[in-house]
Amino acid sequence: DSQDACAIEGDRVLRETICCILGHVDAGKTKLLDCIRHTNVQKGDAGGITQQIGATYVPVEYVKERAKPHKVPGLLVIDTPGHESFSNMRSRGMSLCDIAVVVVDIMHGLEKQTVETLALLKDRNVRFIVVLNKVDRLCGWKHCPDAPIKKALENQSGDVKREFGWRLTKVVTQLKENGFNTALYYDNQKFRKVFDIVPTSAISGEGIPDLLLMLVLRSQATMMEKLTFVNTVECTVLEVNDDKDLGTTIDVVLINGVLHKGDQVNVCTKQGPVTTTIRDLLTPHPLKELRVKGIYKHHKELKAAQGVKIVARGLKYAIPGTSLVVVKPGDDLGQSEAKSQRNENEEGNVIQEISRLKTCKEGVYVQASTFGILEAIIEHLNSPGVNVPVSGCNLGPIEKKDVMKASAMLKRKEEYAAILAFNVRVMPEADVLASESGVKIVTADTVYKLVDSFNEHIKRSKELKKMQCAANAVFPCTLKILPNRVYRKKDPFLCDVEVLEGVVKVGTPICVYVGGTVHGLGRISSMQTSNGNHIDSAKRGVVVSVKITGESPKEKTRLYGRHFDESNELISQISRRSIDVLKEYYRDEMNDENWQLIRRLKKLLDIA
Ligand code: GDP
Repeated sequence: DSQDACAIEGDRVLRETICCILGHVDAGKTKLLDCIRHTNVQKGDAGGITQQIGATYVPVEYVKERAKPHKVPGLLVIDTPGHESFSNMRSRGMSLCDIAVVVVDIMHGLEKQTVETLALLKDRNVRFIVVLNKVDRLCGWKHCPDAPIKKALENQSGDVKREFGWRLTKVVTQLKENGFNTALYYDNQKFRKVFDIVPTSAISGEGIPDLLLMLVLRSQATMMEKLTFVNTVECTVLEVNDDKDLGTTIDVVLINGVLHKGDQVNVCTKQGPVTTTIRDLLTPHPLKELRVKGIYKHHKELKAAQGVKIVARGLKYAIPGTSLVVVKPGDDLGQSEAKSQRNENEEGNVIQEISRLKTCKEGVYVQASTFGILEAIIEHLNSPGVNVPVSGCNLGPIEKKDVMKASAMLKRKEEYAAILAFNVRVMPEADVLASESGVKIVTADTVYKLVDSFNEHIKRSKELKKMQCAANAVFPCTLKILPNRVYRKKDPFLCDVEVLEGVVKVGTPICVYVGGTVHGLGRISSMQTSNGNHIDSAKRGVVVSVKITGESPKEKTRLYGRHFDESNELISQISRRSIDVLKEYYRDEMNDENWQLIRRLKKLLDIA
């Protein structure tokens, strides 16, 4: 059993390389993993690739197609696409992986998620291999099932080779623009500095052997230290499951060390750290579908690296993405308590940590199924291009208390009174409360759609607000009364004016400033051009006929010739509120000149 025999390198024992598959939606991550598994099924190779808990296991024998001693015993490919807790658990997923596979669709080149993923990988110093997938979609591609890519390419027509060439160059250029030097892996002489590109088809399998080989070669060449087996358990929780027969189980990736049945472990849960005893260690029987009953092999101990199902009590609220720590039997009580206390401080406070670091007073509320996703969403929302502030977060189904917390924003900043929910249920009573109170619950199945839906919500509520505030929006203007063209001297006042500055609109309240006093005249109730056309607004330099209708009793008594005359400019009667409305909803309709006029009128009208 290759899993029990770790490879030995000098006096080092190496564990399997752990890798994860990342990339933009539809790039082919799922298909690629399927293809890796499928290849094995075809060969009916019992000792070959097996499906593990949350991962696919590729023994090195399977990879050893070309001579060269292999030091790592195999690959553990985390079931990233299938794993809800991993598909967006980028930062945690990355820290768990030794090496990442970034899938790029050759027909599309680099996409948004790819660029972000690459940036995160760079940030965390994780090595990666770029897979240029879907080569079979090049026009005229001849299938060479499961062939090494170089061979498959040699088999293609000149046209296909040319298309491949320019598409490859395009991706290499895009990667370069993002700060990564890359090269086709078989041309890559400087793999420590230059990242490999492996072209593949996840449909017909070209390039898959190359990818597996590169994962092994590059990892053992560059991360010997990391891959050295040590007797200290390093383990990450992937998923929590409720099993009818087994009770609550947790699926974990054992990254290093050995787990034993009976081990005392400390796990971070939503309700704080829990110390519990491993009652059973399970792996699926080889070549059997996972999640079918009664298919598990029971183990006394298991060695890294592999995917393991742990049966233990008290794990119902375990948080995927956090680590599991073994409390050693040799530890004296005080020590192990101190250790689990440390664990508590480190893991139990993760959510608090997020709140402290990445949230602010005014912002949306985020809710997700796993800690990793939550972290990834908040990270994404906080990123410069997105800029959606977060005020709070929680894990698990949305309950009334979450809606209540989110509703605090109704008073502070209404558009942020929203819960961005990812892969969580909304409890019925929470839903009712949300619609009653006006908290918007936005759900989506990718982080990007979540942000898009939220932006859509913001846009819609802004438009709604804008409509509600239209009456309060006063655009700045100054108007010169044309003296010989005053047609009615009392309310409703009628005359021709020239727009001196700004823009005048139907609905704009007008006043005059006479000897230090402001007299309101009313609102522009209609406006006409010299040839009698009704218009809604007029800009600087235009001459229009305006009708100003008084609203308050005082306004109705104003008289041209007595309270004011042609020497007084008519000005729009702005207010603190109207300025705020302009700032909030009409920024795009305002220019510098308008803002300058606002400042001047503000002073004149003595507005704070
Ligand atoms: P994911 O979202 O990255 O997991 O993408 P999927 O694996 O679900 O693939 C998205 C679509 O692309 C599916 O319809 C796949 O069948 C297709 N696809 C994936 N890999 C390839 C490939 O190598 N060649 C072709 N022609 N189609 C592919």
